[in-house]
This record gives sequence, structure tokens and C-alpha cells, in this order.
Amino acid sequence: MIIVLKQDAAEEQVIALKDTMSDRRLSIQDIRGESTRIFGLVGDTSGISEDSVMRHECVERVMKVSEPYKLAGRRFHPLDSSYEIAGRTVGGGAFTVMAGPCSVETEEQVLSIARDVKHSGADFMRGGAFKPRSSPYSFQGLGLDGLELLKTAREKTGLPIVTEIMSPEYVEIFRDDVDIIQIGARNMQNFSLLTEVGKLGKPVLLKRGPSCTLDEMLMAADYILMSGDSPVILCERGIRTFETATRNTLDLSAIPVLKKKSHLPVIVDPSHGTGYWDLVYPMALAAVAAGADGLMIEVHNRPDKALCDGQQSITPFLFDKLMRKVNRLRATLAENDA
Ligand code: PEP
Ligand code: MN
Repeated sequence: MIIVLKQDAAEEQVIALKDTMSDRRLSIQDIRGESTRIFGLVGDTSGISEDSVMRHECVERVMKVSEPYKLAGRRFHPLDSSYEIAGRTVGGGAFTVMAGPCSVETEEQVLSIARDVKHSGADFMRGGAFKPRSSPYSFQGLGLDGLELLKTAREKTGLPIVTEIMSPEYVEIFRDDVDIIQIGARNMQNFSLLTEVGKLGKPVLLKRGPSCTLDEMLMAADYILMSGDSPVILCERGIRTFETATRNTLDLSAIPVLKKKSHLPVIVDPSHGTGYWDLVYPMALAAVAAGADGLMIEVHNRPDKALCDGQQSITPFLFDKLMRKVNRLRATLAENDA
């Protein structure tokens, strides 16, 4: 809801209005222009009628904002967000690549992949220490030991790390040790986790839930944004449809739609989005062409031996080829825009 205040509104009346909104557990974005003052209400305004707000003498006009998300939306934040994270720019025209294995397995594996992806131009190293596996019998990740291996890889290569948190129990450790905290697809609507991670004020990569709409994803982003001022990056990683030829259906239209609705950077994960290594290359290029702000790619030095998601992991050799092609495609697109 947006409230436009009268130009000559008395401050006591404005305070009374603010108190009413606070009583309803709404937070207020107080936007002051040269001749206009506007309140943007954040929270559930569904129980507030326009009439009840108009009763306040200081109010000139009230508008219900139809989007169910606020902080992630463009309405109050028309310009693209861009962040400086560990010396890299994310969003706002930059292109960010996060690459690495699905799971951290051994020091030798993580280091070898980190060196390779860095050499090819990756900005961040990804790798799961805590793994959300559908089957309780599958490899569950190395947990805190895996995090230590990621830290070693960061120390030795200088690549900052992105890794998934699964439980609020570890928020302090992630705050201290991780550059970008990943919220996985399965936890996209784990609201208490979103809130706890949001309080840290650290960069968050929010992956789309496999059966979530884009509006639901943006509402999940609002949970993080309203808890602190964490930089949030959205990640399309495929949704579950009736199609069985791919693991998920990569929704490339999510890129322009999210970018129209939201100021947050949008990256694409064609590895989980397709489930097959040979589809990663074409779909990564398609994501670039559709305007993504970056990519998350699973890379493994021995995909045939990977403990998790080997079938969708590309080799460092193919990753290198992909990075060259991505750079050429971006250059061509920029030329044609000029
Ligand atoms: C991952 O990135 O390793 C992962 C498990 O992804 P998602 O949450 O998208 O399935
Ligand atoms: Mn994976």
C-alpha cells in the first residue's frame, strides 16, 4: 500500500498515522521527494481498508499495490541492484559466474576444480558441503569438514565461495566463513531459515523452488530482505513439469519476467535446470542471450566418479570452452545494443 501525504500535513498527525501502522506490525518506507512525501507500507496490508487510512487528516491519497512482494519489487526500487561481493560486482550490467562441483568430496578434488574454473574466468567457486538429497541413502555431503575444504580452496586460489545452508543451526558459521550463502530450491519457502539468514546481512543466493511461481520466489526474497539488508541474488534452476526428458524444465522466460518485476540480479543454473551435462552448454548460452546476470555451473574433474550430480556436471575442459563462448556472445550482444 502506498500513502501519499498532504503537503501541509502536521507532524503530529503523521506520527499518529505511523503509530497505527506500527500497531499493525507494518514497516514504513518514508520516501521524501521535493514536494511529496510518500509512505510505502511493507507487510500484510490486506486487512487495512483505504477508507480507514483516509480517515487520517494528513493523508491525501491511498493506493493498494497489487504485487504481493514489496522489497524485491521495482516499485520502490526502480533501478537494478548491484553489489560488491568479495571484490566482484554482481548485477547492474556485470556478469557473474559461479562454478564448481555439486558436492565437496576431497581436498584434491576441490582444489583441482577451483584452480581450473578460476583459470577459465569463474568469479566464485561453488560446492555443496551440506547436501539436500532426495534419498536419505545418498551421499549427504561432508558438512563442516566440507566447509573447511572450501575455505582451503579459497585460501589457495583466491576464489570466494558460495555454498548451501540447510539449517539455521549453522548461521554463525556461514556468516563467518562463506562469501555467498545459498538457499537451495527445497528450502526456498523455509521461512524461518530465510529470516535467520536475512538477519546476517550477508549476500544470499536464492534458488527457485521446483514448484514455485515467480511471485512466490519474490515473496521469499522479501523474507530475507525484510530481516536485514542482505544483497539477494535470484537463481532460476528449473521447475518440475510433466516433461520427463530433462530433470527439470529450465524456465528461461523467468529471466525477463523477474527482471521486469524485480531489481534483484538474476542468474541461471542450467545444470540442475536440465540434469544432463550435454544440455548445459546450449542452455547456458540461451540464458546469456535472454539477459541473465550470470550463471551457476556444476563442474567436476571426474564426472563419472562424482558422488553427486555427475550426470549433469561438465568437465573443466568444456567449462573453459563454454566461458570463451559466453564471453564472445556477450561481446556480440553488447555490440548489437550499441
Ligand atoms: C545445488 O546447487 O547443489 C542444489 C542442490 O541446487 P538446487 O537447490 O537448485 O536443487
Ligand atoms: Mn547438484
